[in-house]
Amino acid sequence: MRTLARLLALSPAVFALVACAATTPTPRPPQRVAIATPAPATTPAPGDLAKFDAFVRDFRATALAAGVSPQVYDRSMAGISLNTHIQDLNLRQPEFSQAIWDYLAVAVSPTRVADGQAALAANAAMLNKIEAQYGIPKAVLVAIWGLETNYGTLMGHYDMFEALATLGYDGPRQALGRRELLAALKMEQAGPFQPEEMVSSWAGAFGQTQFMPSAWLSHAVDGDGDGKKDLWHSAADALASTASMLAEDGWKNGESWGYEVRLPANFPYAESGRDNPQPLAHWRQLGVTTALGAPLPPQPATDSEGGSIFLPAGARGPAFLLLHNFHVIMRYNAASAYALGVGLLADRINGLPGVIGTWPRDEEPLSRDDRMTFQRDLATLGYDPGKIDGMLGPKVSDALRAYQVAHGLLPDGFPTHDLLMRLEREIAAKGTVKGG
Ligand code: CA
Repeated sequence: MRTLARLLALSPAVFALVACAATTPTPRPPQRVAIATPAPATTPAPGDLAKFDAFVRDFRATALAAGVSPQVYDRSMAGISLNTHIQDLNLRQPEFSQAIWDYLAVAVSPTRVADGQAALAANAAMLNKIEAQYGIPKAVLVAIWGLETNYGTLMGHYDMFEALATLGYDGPRQALGRRELLAALKMEQAGPFQPEEMVSSWAGAFGQTQFMPSAWLSHAVDGDGDGKKDLWHSAADALASTASMLAEDGWKNGESWGYEVRLPANFPYAESGRDNPQPLAHWRQLGVTTALGAPLPPQPATDSEGGSIFLPAGARGPAFLLLHNFHVIMRYNAASAYALGVGLLADRINGLPGVIGTWPRDEEPLSRDDRMTFQRDLATLGYDPGKIDGMLGPKVSDALRAYQVAHGLLPDGFPTHDLLMRLEREIAAKGTVKGG
């Protein structure tokens, strides 16, 4: 899901559901992997169809200029149509969001853990070889496999060319759709693949670890040595390609993604935040321990950046110390919830215990309207929450932390209904005209 995932950055706290089809079959915009039957929900208007056909005709010149053969273009694009179901998914704005504890309950379910342990055992020789070659722990690879496609069982069923041409035709992912369509054509030619075997999610991600076509061109490797890089049919190819990508993105061999920690009662919450790494000695000095109360492990000699304190559900929820490799997982899929899911699933597959801290389950996720109001209110009060888009990312957390510090509140950067009401009351009392 690399590349597209970067467009879908999620809130560390309550996030629009984006992870993967393997996690739940419910459509979750902006969704990555669709497993629904790709039947158009409605028939496109005749005018739209004519315009779409013109787009397909015009794109031929672009593709041929980029080195795609006329035969490959014509056979791939023959018979595809504007898919209104994909158009709907592409335009959908998520009203409902899922709390991170609900996401993790599915992402790291007992079944997912047991299936992961079975997959690891069944593929031990292959995984050992990949781990030795690329320096990526096999449990991490298996966890990504599990979260992306439920270990290769849910890969998406859309015609890749129809999906990418529909995205490239118009809508919010037009540039991405066109770029990836071109990459898909080059991939078919280089594979070589038959167009009918090239199935993907509605967003164009494909294969057992959900690569985008451009990522295949730049990073796919032949894991099983049969001369072809087939991420659909060969788990070895898919997992070796994922390992190769993580290695190139700077995975530090021998280091963890991070671990759960316990914070002291007087912890300076203003120092929390996914992107505020400090030497482990600093956290140790503040009284941060492992979740079981043991001293923090020594900082590896290879690690110059230390770790950050991540509170995905605020001060009332579990705390995690994130190390360098967490951010490498986020380069694969730019959602902090996803990266946490991968790390925790890998740990559970390795037989480590799950999260010890308790989640604030009484906290209702904010709706999309609430999330946008939250951002607008922070802006009105002079803080910078970034773009008003209903996405509660690190920028909103930082702005909220600054607000909390200024108002003597516990600065955990976690947006709640209580805080939203407080912002609204403050704005009403000031009689401020809302900006945003
Ligand atoms: Ca192969």
